[in-house]
Amino acid sequence: MNSFKDLSLPEALQSTLSAMNYSVPTPIQAKAIPIAMAGRDLVGCAQTGTGKTAAFCVPMICSLIKTPAKTALILAPTRELAMQIEEVFKKLTARHQDLKIALLIGGASMGSQFRALRNRPRVIVATPGRLNDHLRQRSVTLDSVGILVLDEADRMLDMGFAPQLNQILKFVPKNRQTLLFSATMPSDIQQLAMRYMQNPERVTIGTVSQPAVTIDQSVVQTTQATKNNVLIDEVTSRDGSILIFARTKRRTDRLARFLYDSGHKVSRIHGDRTQKQRNDAIDGFKHGKFRILVATDIAARGIDISHIAHVINYDLPAVAEDYIHRIGRTGRAGAEGKALSFVTPEEKPLWKDITRLLAKKNVSVNARTLQQ
Ligand code: AMP
Repeated sequence: MNSFKDLSLPEALQSTLSAMNYSVPTPIQAKAIPIAMAGRDLVGCAQTGTGKTAAFCVPMICSLIKTPAKTALILAPTRELAMQIEEVFKKLTARHQDLKIALLIGGASMGSQFRALRNRPRVIVATPGRLNDHLRQRSVTLDSVGILVLDEADRMLDMGFAPQLNQILKFVPKNRQTLLFSATMPSDIQQLAMRYMQNPERVTIGTVSQPAVTIDQSVVQTTQATKNNVLIDEVTSRDGSILIFARTKRRTDRLARFLYDSGHKVSRIHGDRTQKQRNDAIDGFKHGKFRILVATDIAARGIDISHIAHVINYDLPAVAEDYIHRIGRTGRAGAEGKALSFVTPEEKPLWKDITRLLAKKNVSVNARTLQQ
């Protein structure tokens, strides 16, 4: 499949794709869409920013158009990712307004979600916790779900959603198509696939968890005491928007305040902020009101902001795999990006784990030592 025109897509969808400037399918789309259109179960292993949202939305839309009694359920680990999926789905169905979608995420009012559910949505996109709340209150039924998508399945398991998923899956008909996407394929994901999927076709794009090749990665040796000064130098000497990761909510707050006091336009996002604050922070960053976004790992996956030029790991992640997800926020859809990591003497063991992981994947990092 070299072009979306090779697929027999409904005409309206074809012209929506053209209007969105989606002419050539990305590799995951080229591999996954024909399999999903044939009704098969699919396990897609793709790094972030590869176009996987459209890879499952396009076949889903075709199937929903063809079978009016069918509905679809998409589960995602974070509110932000669920919102982004909703946004892509709405764009793709611009000419199919009858295909309504309901977004069921925590932190938003139940009332508006009850209303959305009464509107007979053909698609529900949800985070597992909130969907379970609705199932308990019997405000949602999943009897007509014919397509189930598990997006960023590895992240859902990392976040401890396995019991929630098992609970939800009791309500979804067994006779369905299941599409599972994951950036990594640890054994618990393979077990999940075996348990809930029927003879899935596997599709892998690049090496498993390979960072996008367009990301230039470098590292700076620093100390806790000098981190802030080094950061100011780095932030000032760089052009373009910057996503900075800190380890904890408090460090995120403190760092954002420090950058603000130093005259930078900065917003922040972490789990203790309200949904509105999180949305405002991301929107402001997306649209250039803030050049810098400081975040905990909550922002490490799923958020698609195409213009992020730099990712700075002010603190290293505790889990090496998260390094790959963090730096995957830049260099999206073929754009160039830069990733810089601060490494203090205490963080050396963490850095060693990361380099070991990168070496396994044949990715090199410029070890640049800063003159201080
Ligand atoms: P995703 O991995 O789904 O978050 O997509 C990453 C980015 O690639 C998003 O900004 C999409 O709008 C963009 N994208 C996805 N598919 C295509 C395509 N076929 N052509 C151009 N851009 C695309």
